[in-house]
Amino acid sequence: MRTIKLYDTYQGKLREFKPIDEKEVDIYYCGPTVYNYVHLGNFRPTVTFDLLTRFLKAEGYDVKCVSNYTDIDDKIIKQAKLENKTEKELSEFYIKAYEDCLDKLNILPLYNHPKASEYITKMADFIKDLEDNGTAYQGGDDIYFSVESDPKYGSLSKQKIDDLVSGARIDVNTNKKNPLDFALWKLTDDDGIKFDTSVGRGRPGWHTECVVMVNNVFKKTLIDIHGGGFDLKFPHHENEIAQSEAHNHTQLANYWMHCGFLLTNGVKMSKSLGNSILAKDVLERHSGNAIRLFFQTTHYRAPVNYTEENLNAMDKLAAKYENSLKRASVTLQLNNIPAGTRIASDYEEYMNALANDLNVANALSVIDREVKEINSLSAKKDGDMSRLADLVATISELYDILGLRFNLPVIGDEERKLLADFNLARENKDYTKSDELRPILMQKGLL
Ligand code: AMP
Ligand code: ZN
Repeated sequence: MRTIKLYDTYQGKLREFKPIDEKEVDIYYCGPTVYNYVHLGNFRPTVTFDLLTRFLKAEGYDVKCVSNYTDIDDKIIKQAKLENKTEKELSEFYIKAYEDCLDKLNILPLYNHPKASEYITKMADFIKDLEDNGTAYQGGDDIYFSVESDPKYGSLSKQKIDDLVSGARIDVNTNKKNPLDFALWKLTDDDGIKFDTSVGRGRPGWHTECVVMVNNVFKKTLIDIHGGGFDLKFPHHENEIAQSEAHNHTQLANYWMHCGFLLTNGVKMSKSLGNSILAKDVLERHSGNAIRLFFQTTHYRAPVNYTEENLNAMDKLAAKYENSLKRASVTLQLNNIPAGTRIASDYEEYMNALANDLNVANALSVIDREVKEINSLSAKKDGDMSRLADLVATISELYDILGLRFNLPVIGDEERKLLADFNLARENKDYTKSDELRPILMQKGLL
């Protein structure tokens, strides 16, 4: 297998990727809090980790990619009240809406898609263990994690506890021993969703939800890759690591990967800033292929700017790829050319680019070169058909790794007859007939 390098935020450098088990790769990335329609930025990690999954699978790894739904959260309780629904009704509705988008973006089925609500007992037991080992304590109506119990706290975000404390705004919460301590469990009997557990009645905090889901879904205390957007580095992922260190004496994941932000007018797209462009609306205007290309043509760690013009350009690029593949496919089928084989040198160049921290820009140069050659061979009367077949076989694999999905026409007897009649009508200058056949052929993707 080739050398793969990934940028690890924890160590702050590009590192050679070595999975814990030789053949298996476990990936977890933080998913959405499902209290309304998600914005386009929420899909950047989704597309990035789907690309990573596809690349690693092509390399022969058994990839277990997992992402969660945060369906227990104060924002959900508030929104459910506003919509006069139960928390479950509300979250199920928005999970369904999210999954429609996953489908349109051609995201591979995940190994597991856990909901926080399904792991409450495990979360409470985890917190109980932390209380028992002295790293968690009750203060007022909350159970807190004591950051001072973790000498490595701040390692992921490269911050020292003392600097964080002096930088933190004065915390009016006197129930905390340290202003950086964070809530693991809210003890409450309010009218929001709550559970009776080993640590009392109430509900878990977000930071505990993810670490417990990682442990339980994979049945492991240390996985290969944990990810999300850059905004999650601190405090969310830092706090996940601190709990994992306190409970399991591991840093939870060997590699921490973070995606750059989707921006609008230079500012992070975010629900709280009110500048969200909903993913479901963007998917009405642009194809899943175009949105994938929009994210993937910029390196995953760099910011990317949302504009309709940028997405229109990606629609054009996706159409260029699709048209060239369709035309070549029709040509090959009409000439009864058998399926080609992968061009090893192109494939290697492409995979080596992706192996370098998912450098899609370099990988795309292989695709663009192949598209040019495919178009030129398809246009020739006496083009080398076996080379064309090899190019089509190769580029189809390359597109698949980028998650691009094209519907190619299948040519049977009926289609052959239609095409022959169309060509004959044109030769005979029978424009009434050719005009009649053109829309049928176009509808079948043959023109
Ligand atoms: P949230 O529901 O806000 O917790 O976000 C779910 C996922 O989307 C997390 O991995 C976030 O880091 C990511 N995310 C949120 N906003 C953006 C953005 N503007 N650009 C990229 N990723 C984002
Ligand atoms: Zn998380």
